[in-house]
Amino acid sequence: MYRVFVKSLIVAMSAIVPLQLHAQSDKEISYIKKAERIHKSVITIDTHNDTALNFNDPDATRTVAKGQVTFPMMSEGGLDAAFFAIYIGQGPRDEASNKEANFYVADQLLRFKSYVENSDLARIAYNAEDVRSNKRAGKISVILALENGYPFGKDISQVERFYRYGVRAVTICHNYNNDICDASMDSVSEHGGLSPFGYKVVEEMNRLGIIIDVSHASSQTLADVLETSKLPVVASHSGVYSIKNHKRNLKDDEIRAIAARGGLIQVATGRFFLSNKPKSEVTVKDIADHIDYVRSLVGIKHVGIGTDFDGGGGVVGMETAAKMRNLTIELLKRGYSKRELRFFWGENLLRILRAHSK
Ligand SMILES: [Zn+2]
Repeated sequence: MYRVFVKSLIVAMSAIVPLQLHAQSDKEISYIKKAERIHKSVITIDTHNDTALNFNDPDATRTVAKGQVTFPMMSEGGLDAAFFAIYIGQGPRDEASNKEANFYVADQLLRFKSYVENSDLARIAYNAEDVRSNKRAGKISVILALENGYPFGKDISQVERFYRYGVRAVTICHNYNNDICDASMDSVSEHGGLSPFGYKVVEEMNRLGIIIDVSHASSQTLADVLETSKLPVVASHSGVYSIKNHKRNLKDDEIRAIAARGGLIQVATGRFFLSNKPKSEVTVKDIADHIDYVRSLVGIKHVGIGTDFDGGGGVVGMETAAKMRNLTIELLKRGYSKRELRFFWGENLLRILRAHSK
């Protein structure tokens, strides 16, 4: 009797187990298909990568760049647009060094710009309409940016010069204080936030319609920018401090203040901003945890993604731009609607771009 029972149980289980597996993979396939449809129909934008320097000089050895972004990889991952920043670390601030930084950044920018202009796959986007029309034409949009206002030196006319070159967003500082403001990673408060020159830079960026990127800025700098800027600001690649205590991440009151003025918190994907776990355990779920947190604090209209690819970004499951859909799949599993994903992926940023091109 017992034997018969066990035997029938085994038979029953062998019937159930494959069925369960089958059911699970069906569900997985439906998420994959849904994500594919969403990426086809909505605009998808990544607000920060450091890939431009790699395009210019693929043979250079850089510590964090891994070749995580190419135009074909973006197409494969269903990523329509990205802010490609010309990055420069903070150096000495004497006149000769400022000039050298300015020359280097302008040269890199113009070389990258001409690379894009000669590509069949991508086009420069200067405003929201360009991003939309590029998508319709099947082209990747490149939005030009600077990471660090260092190349401006103390010369306010440089802001307009870079605008004319096509720059539409500037991260006002990097890890160390510059002539514009104090940085979040610097150990000393030099200006107590924005410098007098920094206030002029904010005004000038507003006048021209350049997005002020507050990632890397100190808390006091952020407060000064929010008080001064007439346009919403963007933290192009920052995480949530309440989840991971890191000086580069944003505290709850900072997230609220950015959102209250219409701005965006674009979650970074560098593992040090996301979690204390070892590298092999930091996954797309950790990125989604930060997104969830910002969404529940200030709403879906104030959150997006800034991968920081080739600048330290990337996790297990989203190692390159070719894997962007995995984030959508994770958010779908968490119950995000198509409407929410449309805001998250692009509409929020397009709203910011429109505000800057009036
Ligand atoms: Zn950065």
